[in-house]
Amino acid sequence: MFMKKILIGTHNMGKFKELSFLISNKIKKISPKTLKIKSPKETGKTFSANAILKAKYFSKFTKLPVIADDSGLCIKALNGKPGIHSARWAKKYGGFSNSIKVILKRMKYKKNRSAQFVCSLSYKSPKGKIVVVVGKLNGKISYDSKGKKGFGYDPIFIPRLKKITFGQMSKIKKIKSDHRFLAFKKLKKKIKIL
Ligand code: IMP
Repeated sequence: MFMKKILIGTHNMGKFKELSFLISNKIKKISPKTLKIKSPKETGKTFSANAILKAKYFSKFTKLPVIADDSGLCIKALNGKPGIHSARWAKKYGGFSNSIKVILKRMKYKKNRSAQFVCSLSYKSPKGKIVVVVGKLNGKISYDSKGKKGFGYDPIFIPRLKKITFGQMSKIKKIKSDHRFLAFKKLKKKIKIL
C-alpha cells in the first residue's frame, strides 16, 4: 500500500518541522519547495483569513490535502502588534534579531508585558472541504532575547506558568505546548486522519 501524503503549505522551516512532528508518521509530508510553489500574498485581515487563503492557494497546485498555518505574536502593550504582520516586521527590519530588538526597545518601559502567540490552522481536503481552527497561548515578553533553540520570536516569549523563553526550551517541549499544538489538537478532532 502506498503512503498517504499531505502538503504542508509553508516555506517557514520552523513551522514545517513543528507541523511535521505533529502530523501522523503514517503520512508523508511534502513541502511547497519540493513542488516549486512560491508563497501567496497574505492579504487577509485576520490569522484565519490568511490561513484559509494559504490552503486555497496551495491546493491549486496539487491534488493532495493541504494544511496551512498563519500565526504571529500579539503584544498587548503594542496594541496587538506585530500580530498578523509578524513575518512582515522581520522583513521590514532586516531579520528576526532586528525585529526582536525593535520590540524590546518599544517594550522597555512597559509594565504590562502580556502577549499571546496565535495560530490559525487550516485544512483543505482534495474534495474541497475547508476547516479552520485557532490556537492561542498566553505568555509574556522577556526583558532580553534568550535562547537559540527555536525560531522567529521564540527568544522573547515566556509561555504562561514557565520561567524560560521558547528559545531556551527543548524543541519537543515547545512543540508539545505551543499555539500550533493547541490549534492542531482542535484540528485533529475534526480531521481524524491527521
Ligand atoms: P506567517 O504566518 O507566514 O505570517 O508568519 C508568522 C510569523 O510569526 C513567523 O514568521 C514567525 O516570525 C512568527 N511565529 C509564528 N509562530 C511562531 C513560533 O512558534 N515561534 C516564533 N515565532 C513564530
